[in-house]
Amino acid sequence: MGRLLIRVLLAWALFSLAAVADEDVREISVYVTVDWEGVSLEPENIEAMQAFRHRYPHIPMLHLLNPVYFLRPGADTGEIRDKIAATLLPSDELGLHIHPWKSLILHCGLAYRSEPAFAGLDEDCRERDCGYTVSLEYGYTQDELTQLVACSAGLLEAQGFDRPRSFRAGGWQLGPGLAAALRHNGFTWDSSRTDAALLTSRWDRNSKLVQFVRQLHPGASTLDQPYELLPGLMEYPNNGGLADYTSPQKILEIFREQLVHPSAVLVLGFHQETAFDYLRRMEDAIPLMEAEARAAGVILIWAGNPANAHSLFQNNPE
Ligand SMILES: [Zn+2]
Repeated sequence: MGRLLIRVLLAWALFSLAAVADEDVREISVYVTVDWEGVSLEPENIEAMQAFRHRYPHIPMLHLLNPVYFLRPGADTGEIRDKIAATLLPSDELGLHIHPWKSLILHCGLAYRSEPAFAGLDEDCRERDCGYTVSLEYGYTQDELTQLVACSAGLLEAQGFDRPRSFRAGGWQLGPGLAAALRHNGFTWDSSRTDAALLTSRWDRNSKLVQFVRQLHPGASTLDQPYELLPGLMEYPNNGGLADYTSPQKILEIFREQLVHPSAVLVLGFHQETAFDYLRRMEDAIPLMEAEARAAGVILIWAGNPANAHSLFQNNPE
């Protein structure tokens, strides 16, 4: 009887210990996002991404694509698809990234607006495509944005991509109108919220970009965590910024701050168009982050969406 009691007590003690250990398991999920701006598809940038994939095959990417590449005069759609596909791994996911380029706006049956813009570019041009720095939220109505998002998602589908459900606004220019447009179009994941302070390494504090981002995302911080933006639409703040505006040390600093959360989410990113210049910053930060997590006893999850792992181009391109 005494021995049985001891066994029961021992079993209970072990069970309790396991429960405590479970609660103590901390993890951090890190998303690596890529903004495809719709500017260019230069070999040096595609190759920089391929080198990254080769070095870190265990890290999935969430590609946020602007479909405007396919609309440019003389666009070779097969070649464009091949260039995009050359950067992908099976664990990746595809989403949508919109800058309101004039060619995209007109293709989608909307009236082009050249302002308000978040940078000092001349967006009232005639000779070449423009509109890159026009604010989606401040430049277009909710109805127009609903039409633009539907049309842009449709363009990717027409090229054989899965219908996108994830999104980031060009210049992080998302507010209530664009959020409603995303929800209306069945999007479930947005990463347009960011802390304007992450931009001031290269943008003046008084620049329109910094001002607009502050207005659209008041109180945003590098410690922001995912939350429901609208029913069915989760916001995953771009709390780690994009590589163009940061450094390996800054990424590590933000990562370290996040480790205090029992279950943290960090969303990093870079631009395809400047991968050759800046992807290295993220590449250099990765071993530092992995070592930091190991030292802190935190599980580092490179977040992808294997359940969603698309068979790219599973549809026949039209
Ligand atoms: Zn962008």
